[in-house]
Amino acid sequence: MNKIKHITIIGSGTMGNGIAHVAALAGYTVYMFDIAPDALQKATATIEKNMNRQISKSLITEEQKQQAMERLATGTDLRIAVGEADLVIEAATENKQIKTDIFRQLDTLCKPETILATNTSSISITSLAAVTQRPSQVIGMHFMNPVPVMQLVEVIEGYATDKEVTQTITHMAEQMGKIPLVVQDYPGFIANRILMPMINEAIYALYEGVSGVAEIDQIMQLGMAHPMGPLRLADFIGLDVCLAILKVLQDGFGNPKYAPCPLLINMVTAGNLGIKSSVGFYDYRENAREPTVAKR
Ligand code: NAD
Repeated sequence: MNKIKHITIIGSGTMGNGIAHVAALAGYTVYMFDIAPDALQKATATIEKNMNRQISKSLITEEQKQQAMERLATGTDLRIAVGEADLVIEAATENKQIKTDIFRQLDTLCKPETILATNTSSISITSLAAVTQRPSQVIGMHFMNPVPVMQLVEVIEGYATDKEVTQTITHMAEQMGKIPLVVQDYPGFIANRILMPMINEAIYALYEGVSGVAEIDQIMQLGMAHPMGPLRLADFIGLDVCLAILKVLQDGFGNPKYAPCPLLINMVTAGNLGIKSSVGFYDYRENAREPTVAKR
């Protein structure tokens, strides 16, 4: 089995800094790369803040934090960033062109034995593998947000992924304190294939006037023991992200059951994207009374 010591994370946003955080704490040497230097500064500050929170909850010690921070380096030169990497985890913006360009570059700059993983939520692993000369060493590692808290890693085998690479990655995810579950590379993998139609159905129920925002969410919380209702969860994920993933499911399977609800399309068009825009199914503006029931 490939021994992983050095990990490079591409993209230091929400997911990238979370992955760097858990990898550094687990004892790996971590290099965070981003095209934006200010993103790297912000990411390092976020990691430190989140580790301090873990110290205050007695989850880690000050010494563990110091050692982890010493194992973490950052930079904006890709060649330097990936030179020593045994594993690269790509967590850049969810855009097929951006990820394709990154995978082409990684394939030329990395050592021949380096494993290339992606944290994509919806882009085909097989299609990213196909732009490299090492498709058997390309795999999906779908962490959940927030990475330091959520235990699941969906490990996605592309069409050509070598079983030994899957074993290396599942072992490594366990070393990071995660629970890896292996799935095949079909649209939405498992998590989003099941979650997004549920969110879409909740939006349809609202659109058809079957019930209100608060009622729909509470029915799923109280009746199914979901920690959060589907409409609030959609606000957290971002309605634009939900719409994009539903389109991937619709295009990938050619099945009309994945067609996004017209209300979701309208809300995204209007710029009501959930928490990131302060308004979605709920109103997150200061002094707002929630829930603000979305217009049908
Ligand atoms: P984000 O917008 O917070 O961060 C993306 C980062 O990528 C930014 O810092 C940006 O500067 C950087 N970037 C853009 N182009 C780059 C390039 N060419 N090279 C290097 N860095 C580049 O995004 P995020 O929410 O962290 O999402 C990252 C990935 O993780 C996406 O593929 C997304 O689908 C996936 N994901 C997100 C979540 C979530 O809840 N946010 C959950 C699971 C998976």
